[in-house]
Amino acid sequence: MKRDSGITGNYHTHTRYSDGKEEPQAFVEQAIRLGFTHLGFTDHAPVTFANKWSMCWGDLMGYQQKIHLLQREYADRITILCSLEIDYIPGVSVPFSHFQRVLSLDYTIGGVHLVRHPESGQLWFIDGGSEEEYAAGLEEIFHHNTDLAVRCFYQQQIEMLQQERPDVLAHFDKLKMHNKGRYFNDDSPLVHTLQKQLLQVAKKQGTIVEINTRGIYKGRCKELYPSERLIRCCVEEKIPLMLSSDAHLPEELNGHFDETLYIMKQIGVKEVVGFSDGKFVLTPLSMGAGRLAG
Ligand SMILES: [Zn+2]
Ligand SMILES: [Zn+2]
Repeated sequence: MKRDSGITGNYHTHTRYSDGKEEPQAFVEQAIRLGFTHLGFTDHAPVTFANKWSMCWGDLMGYQQKIHLLQREYADRITILCSLEIDYIPGVSVPFSHFQRVLSLDYTIGGVHLVRHPESGQLWFIDGGSEEEYAAGLEEIFHHNTDLAVRCFYQQQIEMLQQERPDVLAHFDKLKMHNKGRYFNDDSPLVHTLQKQLLQVAKKQGTIVEINTRGIYKGRCKELYPSERLIRCCVEEKIPLMLSSDAHLPEELNGHFDETLYIMKQIGVKEVVGFSDGKFVLTPLSMGAGRLAG
């Protein structure tokens, strides 16, 4: 990634500590090759039930120690940040403050990957590897009541921003990934209203909204998370935006960044969030001095 783009890092990265594929060091080496000045590690925080994608509770301190070791080893070449992508599931997930306190995180990313049915409490996994699993969950848990499922997905994110106050909101319209226009209309008045409500809360809470490129470079979705229409809403509402690749492999660290930057500039995005002097700041897309985010 060229430095003159204004993008000097990636703040959403998964390693072998959760569902990523390589040791943290391999990502650091690649980030340096790309000319990044910052790299944020955000493995999936442990959850209270068995699964294949989150970190084990027993690995938490080892994760922190590994990142602190790399911070010291590479201090003169790159700034490395310790974070987690934390799931919010009402009544199930551990408070974000627990992880912040135990690991002294530099920042937090909040995400909803499991949608809780308000009555049965069953969890619909919307981010699994297969469309079949998504369809089965919608049928067995929400009994094809797609309006309720969509409402719960957005309401859960609103609650997350209000109660857990993550610094960054991850891929907030990812429900569309396996939907592919089949079960609900992603352009319906209901969806637009819920998205608008979520963005109003993000604005009020000073949450950074992520533009996540993973769906495109993995060939799982034709659009960014969130879609261009929603990026335009963020610009109009002056909500700070961050460009993230959600990398699970070192070679994905700048996945689809050049193309996305072009789209962002077309939409009218003038600044993106990056880390500087211990905090997130807004930096012009064409190089220049940063200013405080939010
Ligand atoms: Zn995620
Ligand atoms: Zn992620």
